[in-house]
Amino acid sequence: MKALVVDGINDYSVQEVGFSEPKTGEVLIKMKATGVCHSDLSIINGTIPMAAPVIVGHEGAGIVESVGENVTNVKPGDHVALTWVPICGECYFCQHQEPYLCSAGSMAMGKQLDGTSRISRGDTPVNVMTLLGAMAEYAVVPSISLVKIEEDIPFAVAAMVGCGVMTGVGAAIKTAEVKPGSTVAVFGCGGVGLSVVQGARLAGAKTIIAVDLSQNKVDLALEFGATHGITSKDAVDEIKKLTGGIGVDYSFEVVGIPALVTAADMSTRRGGTVTVVGVGKLTEFVNINSMMFSLSAKTYKGCFYGNANPAVDFPNLLSLYKQKRLPLDDMITKTYDIDDAPKAFEDMEAGLNARGIIIYD
Ligand SMILES: [Zn+2]
Ligand SMILES: [Zn+2]
Repeated sequence: MKALVVDGINDYSVQEVGFSEPKTGEVLIKMKATGVCHSDLSIINGTIPMAAPVIVGHEGAGIVESVGENVTNVKPGDHVALTWVPICGECYFCQHQEPYLCSAGSMAMGKQLDGTSRISRGDTPVNVMTLLGAMAEYAVVPSISLVKIEEDIPFAVAAMVGCGVMTGVGAAIKTAEVKPGSTVAVFGCGGVGLSVVQGARLAGAKTIIAVDLSQNKVDLALEFGATHGITSKDAVDEIKKLTGGIGVDYSFEVVGIPALVTAADMSTRRGGTVTVVGVGKLTEFVNINSMMFSLSAKTYKGCFYGNANPAVDFPNLLSLYKQKRLPLDDMITKTYDIDDAPKAFEDMEAGLNARGIIIYD
């Protein structure tokens, strides 16, 4: 089968690899759609270190082809969305209603949960991102990384719900808990940032200010519910002007750049909430003024996977889609064959797509 394999920093290509049957607790998926997400690029460019060779792709949906022993949640023919955090139901976090922090997969390091690979290139085992490796024609994944979806949901939509949409909408609704009538600023308007905008809109925010240096992305944000767009570097001043000098109730940083976290902080009113969704570099730190930390009485939140409980939240988001309250079809700017996956990353880096999606036959 074909897969997008990363062999080193910025060294990636579509290659032919082999796969083996699912073992106990695992499922073979025929992939139908894979979203092209910034976290894939972070592995390609080395921001998130992963041992090569590795297949990226963590935002996907497909059809169950076969199941290993002891798989009870899905059967062949089921339509499924992938979750890039497996939910074991047994660890400390799962038992404390924080399934998005499930520790089951954290030691997998590119392998399956038993420490071995199902994908190979000749005699070489090939690693996969987040137990999935979804940018491939087939994936062998843990059954606890799957959520069954209804058959009338387009695969591309289900794929996006598995990462970008869950993270962004979840950041607004579940992490920050945006309240009706509030003011919001979103720094960074890629696929996840646009989903934060949509989450803030669903939560009833009255003012949603989208900030991005790309006019194209700000225009998209305005289509998805932002009330104001800012492309200048003086975003903090402009946000203050738009909020009567006070600052917004909620700010979101969705890029992973320390200076932007500071800008989000400076744009937030006393007592407001700053939520960081973007993943920065391991070597970088964020500055918060030591005196103002206390005096401004703000809440600082880190958002991981939009505080997702995939088994509950994926179906909820997909119902909002069916009710036309989440216009996810409009998020899909362009689709690609697996052979064109490298072009999809070029387009993402050029800021051309709300979301690019790989579609398989
Ligand atoms: Zn992602
Ligand atoms: Zn768990």
